[in-house]
Amino acid sequence: MKDIIEGFLKFHSDAYPKRADLFKNLATKQNPRTLFISCSDSRLVPELVTQHEPGGLFVIRNAGNIVPSYGPEPGGVSASVEYAVTALKVTDVVICGHSDCGAMTAIANCTCMDHMPAVGSWLRYADSARVVNEAREHDSDSERVASMVRENVIAQIENIKTHPSIRLALRENRLALHGWVYDIESGDIDALDGVTNEFVSLATHTEVRAYPISPLAVAV
Ligand SMILES: [Zn+2]
Repeated sequence: MKDIIEGFLKFHSDAYPKRADLFKNLATKQNPRTLFISCSDSRLVPELVTQHEPGGLFVIRNAGNIVPSYGPEPGGVSASVEYAVTALKVTDVVICGHSDCGAMTAIANCTCMDHMPAVGSWLRYADSARVVNEAREHDSDSERVASMVRENVIAQIENIKTHPSIRLALRENRLALHGWVYDIESGDIDALDGVTNEFVSLATHTEVRAYPISPLAVAV
């Protein structure tokens, strides 16, 4: 914990003063344009990867970058999605998985979760991705996990479309959905191309999105 406190002291004396005007502007309002949903994994830092300062991203993080489908008993993820889309009116949602994901590795390898029942229960929201992934042949264990990471992003894009706020925003052409996979070692991002359902390099395909597959009617 000592390093955490020391980090705060450094922030207070160094990083904060450099952004004093920014924080003054943010003191009573926020206007993030993107809802960024990622895994809780310590190695993926949304603000670092996207080079965004405080106020730039509205972030949801959990084990496996999961968005439960909407239902009669919505939880914290659903509430945060609804707030981002309805109150903050974000124009883009990014669901970002990553390489070497512990959650997806556990699913891909059918790891027994009896000793972590909450995790086991939570990961059931990735069942549709698991079933698709298990029906495929994989050349190696690592490829099975990588494929699970990608299928999970696709499944969570489908899940988030069941949320009323998302559905309305999509129908009104004021929202785009993006499915990304971040590679920890290389720093690269592959993005889901909704036209082909394949992942392509974001660096060379900056326009791809998961949904809608045609350009938005409203410039974003
Ligand atoms: Zn993860």
